[in-house]
Amino acid sequence: MSNIIEETVLETHHWTDHLFTLKLTRDPGFRFESGQFAMIGLKVDGKPLMRAYSMVSASYDEHLEFLSIKVPGGPLTSRLQHVQPGDTILVNRKTTGTLIADNLLPGAKRLYLLSTGTGLAPFLSIIKDPTIYERFDEIILTHTCRHCSELVYQDLITGELLDNEFFGEQVRQKLTYYPSVTREPFKNQGRITELVQNGTLFADLGRPPFNTDEDRVMICGNPHMMSELADILDGMGWKQGNNGEPGHYLIEKAFAEK
Ligand SMILES: Cc1cc2nc3c(=O)[nH]c(=O)nc-3n(C[C@H](O)[C@H](O)[C@H](O)COP(=O)(O)OP(=O)(O)OC[C@H]3O[C@@H](n4cnc5c(N)ncnc54)[C@H](O)[C@@H]3O)c2cc1C
Repeated sequence: MSNIIEETVLETHHWTDHLFTLKLTRDPGFRFESGQFAMIGLKVDGKPLMRAYSMVSASYDEHLEFLSIKVPGGPLTSRLQHVQPGDTILVNRKTTGTLIADNLLPGAKRLYLLSTGTGLAPFLSIIKDPTIYERFDEIILTHTCRHCSELVYQDLITGELLDNEFFGEQVRQKLTYYPSVTREPFKNQGRITELVQNGTLFADLGRPPFNTDEDRVMICGNPHMMSELADILDGMGWKQGNNGEPGHYLIEKAFAEK
Protein backbone atom coordinates (compact mmCIF):
# COMPACT_ATOMS: atom_id res chain seq x y z
CA MET A 1 0.00 0.00 0.00
CA SER A 2 1.34 3.45 -0.84
CA ASN A 3 2.24 5.61 2.12
CA ILE A 4 1.09 8.70 0.24
CA ILE A 5 -2.30 10.02 1.30
CA GLU A 6 -4.33 12.95 0.04
CA GLU A 7 -5.22 15.83 2.34
CA THR A 8 -7.27 18.94 1.62
CA VAL A 9 -6.12 22.54 2.05
CA LEU A 10 -8.22 24.22 4.75
CA GLU A 11 -6.45 27.58 4.88
CA THR A 12 -3.41 29.42 3.59
CA HIS A 13 -1.75 32.46 5.12
CA HIS A 14 0.87 34.49 3.29
CA TRP A 15 3.16 36.16 5.83
CA THR A 16 5.51 37.80 3.31
CA ASP A 17 6.46 37.45 -0.37
CA HIS A 18 8.71 34.55 0.71
CA LEU A 19 6.82 32.75 3.47
CA PHE A 20 3.43 31.13 3.82
CA THR A 21 1.54 28.72 6.03
CA LEU A 22 -0.57 25.81 4.88
CA LYS A 23 -3.29 24.28 7.02
CA LEU A 24 -4.53 20.86 5.90
CA THR A 25 -6.98 18.21 6.97
CA ARG A 26 -5.36 15.37 8.94
CA ASP A 27 -6.01 11.69 8.51
CA PRO A 28 -6.55 10.27 12.02
CA GLY A 29 -3.97 7.60 11.16
CA PHE A 30 -1.25 10.20 10.52
CA ARG A 31 0.97 10.06 13.60
CA PHE A 32 4.15 11.92 14.49
CA GLU A 33 6.28 13.08 17.39
CA SER A 34 6.78 16.80 18.07
CA GLY A 35 9.79 17.98 16.04
CA GLN A 36 9.52 15.46 13.20
CA PHE A 37 9.04 16.04 9.49
CA ALA A 38 7.13 14.38 6.63
CA MET A 39 7.33 14.50 2.85
CA ILE A 40 4.53 16.58 1.35
CA GLY A 41 3.85 17.76 -2.18
CA LEU A 42 1.72 17.94 -5.27
CA LYS A 43 0.97 15.72 -8.21
CA VAL A 44 2.86 17.20 -11.17
CA ASP A 45 2.47 15.61 -14.62
CA GLY A 46 0.82 12.64 -12.94
CA LYS A 47 3.75 12.04 -10.55
CA PRO A 48 4.21 13.05 -6.90
CA LEU A 49 6.67 15.94 -6.40
CA MET A 50 7.50 15.74 -2.71
CA ARG A 51 9.73 17.68 -0.31
CA ALA A 52 10.55 17.38 3.39
CA TYR A 53 8.47 19.62 5.69
CA SER A 54 8.54 19.87 9.47
CA MET A 55 5.17 19.77 11.18
CA VAL A 56 4.22 23.08 12.81
CA SER A 57 1.05 21.58 14.25
CA ALA A 58 1.00 19.79 17.58
CA SER A 59 0.87 16.01 17.58
CA TYR A 60 -2.64 16.27 19.13
CA ASP A 61 -4.06 18.86 16.67
CA GLU A 62 -6.92 17.84 14.41
CA HIS A 63 -5.32 19.57 11.43
CA LEU A 64 -1.84 19.53 9.90
CA GLU A 65 0.12 22.75 9.54
CA PHE A 66 3.31 23.61 7.66
CA LEU A 67 5.40 26.77 7.27
CA SER A 68 6.86 27.11 3.79
CA ILE A 69 9.44 29.13 1.96
CA LYS A 70 8.68 30.31 -1.60
CA VAL A 71 11.83 29.56 -3.58
CA PRO A 72 11.84 31.50 -6.86
CA GLY A 73 11.71 28.83 -9.55
CA GLY A 74 11.68 26.07 -6.90
CA PRO A 75 10.10 22.93 -8.38
CA LEU A 76 7.63 22.46 -5.53
CA THR A 77 7.22 25.84 -3.86
CA SER A 78 6.69 27.78 -7.10
CA ARG A 79 3.48 25.68 -7.34
CA LEU A 80 2.66 25.10 -3.69
CA GLN A 81 2.45 28.84 -2.96
CA HIS A 82 -0.61 29.08 -5.24
CA VAL A 83 -2.78 26.38 -3.63
CA GLN A 84 -6.22 27.38 -2.40
CA PRO A 85 -8.66 25.96 0.15
CA GLY A 86 -10.18 22.77 -1.26
CA ASP A 87 -7.04 21.79 -3.23
CA THR A 88 -5.37 18.42 -2.67
CA ILE A 89 -1.91 18.03 -1.08
CA LEU A 90 -0.03 14.74 -1.02
CA VAL A 91 1.34 13.72 2.38
CA ASN A 92 3.55 10.74 3.08
CA ARG A 93 2.44 8.96 6.26
CA LYS A 94 6.04 8.07 7.14
CA THR A 95 7.37 10.67 9.59
CA THR A 96 10.91 10.93 10.86
CA GLY A 97 13.50 13.37 12.20
CA THR A 98 16.24 13.89 14.74
CA LEU A 99 14.73 16.80 16.69
CA ILE A 100 12.86 14.84 19.30
CA ALA A 101 13.21 15.22 23.05
CA ASP A 102 14.01 11.53 23.57
CA ASN A 103 17.23 12.06 21.60
CA LEU A 104 18.54 14.38 24.34
CA LEU A 105 20.45 13.09 27.36
CA PRO A 106 18.47 13.61 30.57
CA GLY A 107 19.64 15.67 33.53
CA ALA A 108 19.62 19.27 32.23
CA LYS A 109 17.18 21.98 33.27
CA ARG A 110 17.25 24.25 30.23
CA LEU A 111 16.38 23.54 26.60
CA TYR A 112 17.53 25.94 23.88
CA LEU A 113 15.70 25.75 20.54
CA LEU A 114 17.85 27.71 18.06
CA SER A 115 16.25 28.43 14.67
CA THR A 116 16.63 30.53 11.55
CA GLY A 117 13.99 31.09 8.85
CA THR A 118 11.64 28.14 8.34
CA GLY A 119 13.78 26.20 10.83
CA LEU A 120 11.31 27.59 13.37
CA ALA A 121 8.70 25.05 12.19
CA PRO A 122 9.65 21.94 14.24
CA PHE A 123 10.10 24.07 17.36
CA LEU A 124 6.55 25.38 17.09
CA SER A 125 5.35 21.80 17.34
CA ILE A 126 7.67 21.21 20.30
CA ILE A 127 6.54 24.27 22.29
CA LYS A 128 2.91 23.17 21.82
CA ASP A 129 3.75 19.84 23.46
CA PRO A 130 2.92 19.91 27.19
CA THR A 131 5.44 17.14 27.95
CA ILE A 132 8.37 19.40 27.05
CA TYR A 133 7.45 21.63 30.03
CA GLU A 134 7.58 18.59 32.28
CA ARG A 135 11.06 17.65 31.08
CA PHE A 136 12.65 21.11 31.41
CA ASP A 137 12.48 24.04 33.85
CA GLU A 138 13.11 26.49 31.02
CA ILE A 139 12.67 26.49 27.24
CA ILE A 140 14.44 29.25 25.30
CA LEU A 141 13.31 29.63 21.69
CA THR A 142 15.45 31.79 19.43
CA HIS A 143 14.42 32.74 15.90
CA THR A 144 16.75 34.68 13.62
CA CYS A 145 15.70 36.15 10.26
CA ARG A 146 16.90 38.84 7.94
CA HIS A 147 13.87 41.09 8.47
CA CYS A 148 11.34 41.65 11.28
CA SER A 149 8.48 40.72 8.92
CA GLU A 150 9.92 37.18 8.80
CA LEU A 151 9.58 36.70 12.57
CA VAL A 152 6.38 34.75 12.03
CA TYR A 153 4.05 33.14 14.59
CA GLN A 154 4.72 35.77 17.27
CA ASP A 155 1.02 35.87 18.18
CA LEU A 156 1.15 32.16 18.92
CA ILE A 157 4.45 32.24 20.81
CA THR A 158 3.80 35.34 22.92
CA GLY A 159 -0.01 35.18 23.11
CA GLU A 160 -2.12 32.16 22.27
CA LEU A 161 0.16 29.58 23.92
CA LEU A 162 0.31 31.55 27.15
CA ASP A 163 -3.48 31.39 27.33
CA ASN A 164 -3.71 27.65 26.63
CA GLU A 165 -6.29 26.33 29.06
CA PHE A 166 -4.35 23.16 29.83
CA PHE A 167 -0.69 24.19 30.02
CA GLY A 168 -0.65 27.99 29.56
CA GLU A 169 0.63 28.53 33.08
CA GLN A 170 3.67 26.34 32.44
CA VAL A 171 4.32 28.20 29.18
CA ARG A 172 4.16 31.54 31.02
CA GLN A 173 6.63 30.29 33.64
CA LYS A 174 9.03 28.40 31.39
CA LEU A 175 9.07 29.67 27.79
CA THR A 176 11.35 32.54 26.76
CA TYR A 177 11.26 33.84 23.19
CA TYR A 178 14.36 35.56 21.75
CA PRO A 179 13.87 36.84 18.20
CA SER A 180 16.74 38.50 16.35
CA VAL A 181 17.22 40.03 12.92
CA THR A 182 20.31 40.56 10.80
CA ARG A 183 19.40 43.13 8.15
CA GLU A 184 17.49 45.92 9.92
CA PRO A 185 17.39 47.65 13.31
CA PHE A 186 15.70 45.60 16.02
CA LYS A 187 16.00 45.11 19.78
CA ASN A 188 18.14 41.98 19.20
CA GLN A 189 20.46 42.16 16.23
CA GLY A 190 22.88 39.69 14.72
CA ARG A 191 23.36 36.12 13.57
CA ILE A 192 22.71 33.54 16.25
CA THR A 193 26.23 32.13 15.86
CA GLU A 194 27.67 35.57 16.69
CA LEU A 195 25.26 36.11 19.57
CA VAL A 196 26.34 32.77 21.04
CA GLN A 197 30.06 33.29 20.42
CA ASN A 198 30.28 36.85 21.73
CA GLY A 199 28.09 36.06 24.73
CA THR A 200 25.32 38.57 23.84
CA LEU A 201 22.63 35.89 23.91
CA PHE A 202 23.52 34.84 27.46
CA ALA A 203 23.98 38.42 28.70
CA ASP A 204 20.58 39.42 27.25
CA LEU A 205 18.89 36.38 28.77
CA GLY A 206 20.75 36.62 32.10
CA ARG A 207 21.78 32.97 31.82
CA PRO A 208 25.24 31.34 32.00
CA PRO A 209 27.00 30.34 28.77
CA PHE A 210 26.13 26.91 27.36
CA ASN A 211 27.19 24.12 29.71
CA THR A 212 26.34 20.44 29.55
CA ASP A 213 25.31 20.26 33.23
CA GLU A 214 22.41 22.65 32.74
CA ASP A 215 21.69 22.93 29.02
CA ARG A 216 20.51 20.95 26.02
CA VAL A 217 20.26 22.44 22.54
CA MET A 218 18.29 21.72 19.37
CA ILE A 219 19.23 23.54 16.14
CA CYS A 220 17.29 23.91 12.89
CA GLY A 221 17.51 26.17 9.85
CA ASN A 222 20.18 27.39 7.49
CA PRO A 223 22.68 24.52 6.92
CA HIS A 224 25.68 26.85 7.32
CA MET A 225 24.38 28.11 10.69
CA MET A 226 23.76 24.53 11.83
CA SER A 227 27.26 23.35 11.00
CA GLU A 228 28.84 26.45 12.61
CA LEU A 229 26.91 25.92 15.84
CA ALA A 230 27.66 22.19 15.76
CA ASP A 231 31.38 23.01 15.44
CA ILE A 232 31.17 25.39 18.42
CA LEU A 233 29.44 22.77 20.58
CA ASP A 234 31.72 19.95 19.42
CA GLY A 235 34.67 22.17 20.33
CA MET A 236 33.27 22.41 23.87
CA GLY A 237 33.10 18.60 24.11
CA TRP A 238 29.35 18.30 23.56
CA LYS A 239 27.97 15.06 22.12
CA GLN A 240 25.61 15.28 19.16
CA GLY A 241 22.56 13.06 19.57
CA ASN A 242 20.85 10.91 17.01
CA ASN A 243 17.87 8.61 16.81
CA GLY A 244 18.47 5.94 19.42
CA GLU A 245 21.71 7.59 20.60
CA PRO A 246 20.96 10.54 22.89
CA GLY A 247 23.33 13.51 23.09
CA HIS A 248 23.69 17.00 24.53
CA TYR A 249 22.52 18.64 21.31
CA LEU A 250 20.61 17.83 18.12
CA ILE A 251 20.51 19.19 14.60
CA GLU A 252 18.05 18.23 11.87
CA LYS A 253 20.47 15.97 10.03
CA ALA A 254 18.49 15.64 6.82
CA PHE A 255 18.30 19.46 6.58
CA ALA A 256 22.05 19.84 7.21
CA GLU A 257 23.06 17.26 4.64
CA LYS A 258 20.82 18.60 1.89
C1 LIG B 1 14.38 17.63 7.04
C2 LIG B 1 13.93 18.81 6.23
C3 LIG B 1 12.88 19.59 6.72
C4 LIG B 1 12.44 20.68 5.98
N1 LIG B 1 11.42 21.45 6.50
C5 LIG B 1 11.00 22.53 5.80
C6 LIG B 1 9.94 23.36 6.30
O1 LIG B 1 9.35 23.09 7.37
N2 LIG B 1 9.58 24.44 5.57
C7 LIG B 1 10.20 24.74 4.38
O2 LIG B 1 9.83 25.75 3.76
N3 LIG B 1 11.19 23.98 3.89
C8 LIG B 1 11.59 22.88 4.55
N4 LIG B 1 12.57 22.10 4.01
C9 LIG B 1 13.05 22.39 2.64
C10 LIG B 1 12.06 21.77 1.66
O3 LIG B 1 12.17 20.36 1.70
C11 LIG B 1 12.23 22.25 0.19
O4 LIG B 1 13.57 22.34 -0.13
C12 LIG B 1 11.55 23.57 -0.04
O5 LIG B 1 10.17 23.39 0.10
C13 LIG B 1 11.78 24.11 -1.45
O6 LIG B 1 11.30 23.18 -2.40
P1 LIG B 1 11.44 23.49 -3.95
O7 LIG B 1 11.16 22.22 -4.70
O8 LIG B 1 10.59 24.67 -4.31
O9 LIG B 1 12.96 23.89 -4.14
P2 LIG B 1 14.25 22.97 -3.88
O10 LIG B 1 14.79 22.53 -5.20
O11 LIG B 1 13.92 21.91 -2.87
O12 LIG B 1 15.22 24.00 -3.19
C14 LIG B 1 15.94 24.95 -3.97
C15 LIG B 1 16.89 25.73 -3.08
O13 LIG B 1 16.14 26.62 -2.27
C16 LIG B 1 16.76 26.79 -1.01
N5 LIG B 1 15.80 26.41 0.05
C17 LIG B 1 14.99 25.29 0.06
N6 LIG B 1 14.24 25.27 1.18
C18 LIG B 1 14.56 26.39 1.89
C19 LIG B 1 14.09 26.92 3.11
N7 LIG B 1 13.14 26.30 3.82
N8 LIG B 1 14.61 28.07 3.53
C20 LIG B 1 15.56 28.72 2.80
N9 LIG B 1 16.03 28.27 1.62
C21 LIG B 1 15.54 27.11 1.16
C22 LIG B 1 17.98 25.91 -0.99
O14 LIG B 1 19.10 26.68 -1.38
C23 LIG B 1 17.67 24.89 -2.06
O15 LIG B 1 18.83 24.33 -2.61
C24 LIG B 1 13.05 21.00 4.73
C25 LIG B 1 14.09 20.21 4.25
C26 LIG B 1 14.53 19.14 4.98
C27 LIG B 1 15.64 18.30 4.42
